[in-house]
Amino acid sequence: MNRFTYVSVTDPQAAIAEMDEHDSPKFIAGGTNLLDLMKENVERPDHLIDINHLAFNKIEDGPDGGLRLGALVTNADTAWNEQVEQRYPLLSKAILAGASAQLRNMATNGGNLMQRTRCYYFYDTATPCNKREPGSGCSAIGGYNRILAILGTSEDCIATHPSDMCVALAALNATVNITGKNGDRSIPFADFHRLPGDRPDLDNTLDAGDIVTSIDLPANGFAKNFEYLKVRDRASYAFALVSVAAALELEGTHIKEARLVLGGVAHKPWRNADAEAVLNGQEATIENFEKAAALVLEGAKGYGDNDFKIELAKRAIVRALKTAAGMEENV
Ligand SMILES: Cc1cc2nc3c(=O)[nH]c(=O)nc-3n(C[C@H](O)[C@H](O)[C@H](O)COP(=O)(O)OP(=O)(O)OC[C@H]3O[C@@H](n4cnc5c(N)ncnc54)[C@H](O)[C@@H]3O)c2cc1C
Ligand code: SF4
Repeated sequence: MNRFTYVSVTDPQAAIAEMDEHDSPKFIAGGTNLLDLMKENVERPDHLIDINHLAFNKIEDGPDGGLRLGALVTNADTAWNEQVEQRYPLLSKAILAGASAQLRNMATNGGNLMQRTRCYYFYDTATPCNKREPGSGCSAIGGYNRILAILGTSEDCIATHPSDMCVALAALNATVNITGKNGDRSIPFADFHRLPGDRPDLDNTLDAGDIVTSIDLPANGFAKNFEYLKVRDRASYAFALVSVAAALELEGTHIKEARLVLGGVAHKPWRNADAEAVLNGQEATIENFEKAAALVLEGAKGYGDNDFKIELAKRAIVRALKTAAGMEENV
């Protein structure tokens, strides 16, 4: 780990100003991802700005009947919040599928959005990696790529975004609120994370010095019929090989509206509007679920060790939709 200075701030503007005064500063929240990366010398900040004392630590009513989740509320407090459990149970279930109780007690909502990929080569500073060191090459393409992406990849990077929470936030049409040098702004969740393209070093669309202040969840009718299905190598402490956030607004067996997002398969939560359109206005049947699954995986590309994810994702989608529709038990 390199030497760094440290400051704790109580005002967002002070945090933003601190960012301008150093060569490679970083905000620190729960530290559960950043400290790991610093210990591995993957992240080498010269200055840490502790944002834990900023007032982004509440869950409160948001605009238009929605809910606003402070960026500094922990993952645990978010998952067990009464309003989240009642109105957005898909989000509670997705958060509780991630990490461990101890980690969720430290990890914050803002940090969860900003966590970096778990590609093995990204963590291994002895190997080339375009995300860690732009232009150095990608060791995963042609290397061991079992956990890596099958959708939205580029010749420069096939990393996945590892978050469970973000898959649910994408399905719930969340908005990310930000403050920065140029004032406040909001980003629709679909536009927050980037595909790798030729700049895999950039994970998201934030500008340098931007702070995530909160996440807005709009009101919706998905509290009854939902599923977050996470398929992984072992029951705990494992990131998703494939995960599915499925939510249905049903009238009997008729689907008024569907949401379908995959995790563990791309550089960002993978939402496919065409697949949702196949379900909207139709009957909740296995045949329609299979059609939607086929559409989501259209154009998927395996890299050898991860070829299995294509069929796994299709089956996981159908199973998650069956559970959401009440055809299988939601456990
Ligand atoms: C063993 C282990 C297993 C895990 N398993 C899972 C899992 O299964 N599923 C899952 O989803 N996650 C998992 N995680 C990841 C965990 O959820 C993240 O590490 C955590 O959410 C990050 O939050 P944090 O507050 O600790 O962020 P930090 O480590 O403090 O920060 C992470 C990054 O976010 C930036 N940042 C933090 N807050 C803000 C903000 N408000 N605005 C702008 N930038 C900010 C920091 O500068 C840093 O770059 C696991 C982690 C570990 C260590
Ligand atoms: S997949 Fe991306 S993160 Fe992994 S080695 Fe290649 S460039 Fe690096």
